[in-house]
Amino acid sequence: MSSGAQRLRPIALAAVGDVDAALMTSLADPIRAALGRGVVFAQGLPLPAHGFSRRRGQLRATAILDELAAVKDPGWLRLLGVVGVDLYAPQLNFVFGEADPERGVAVFSTARLHVGPEDARRLQRRASTEAVHELVHTFGLGHCVRPSCVMWFSNTLAETDRKSPRPCADHARALARALEAER
Ligand SMILES: [Zn+2]
Ligand SMILES: [Zn+2]
Repeated sequence: MSSGAQRLRPIALAAVGDVDAALMTSLADPIRAALGRGVVFAQGLPLPAHGFSRRRGQLRATAILDELAAVKDPGWLRLLGVVGVDLYAPQLNFVFGEADPERGVAVFSTARLHVGPEDARRLQRRASTEAVHELVHTFGLGHCVRPSCVMWFSNTLAETDRKSPRPCADHARALARALEAER
């Protein structure tokens, strides 16, 4: 590794509320592979009570983005929150996650990714795919027309399973340009 590469800011991950530690750990390699940056684990955050909708039984995704933005260290290129509770956005019955390119933060939820207790690997793959998806959004990149690209917009878990945690060639190029512009 060159000294230049060592200066590159890492991607930080933080559990928001209760998240399985093994699942958190499993996200590091796919994120490194897709973004080419180091991954560090930040201190976990409590669930923001003010973002909880009693009527929906869900947490507003932007409430978590606000919490993440408040604790984001300038030494981190991005901060990604991982949450176990279901998320919503106004006008949508749920969201898998949400990204804020302006503040360099994103969040995704494992609430709708669940599989049987014996299938931790599938859960890890789904979570990695959603983690990379939201992180790529934080670089201002949009959705893809290729069903296997990580930037395909999933409406269902079947669509999530069809994707890989990697960007297509076009998205990989656009991401490399964005990463180059932001050290
Ligand atoms: Zn998306
Ligand atoms: Zn793509």
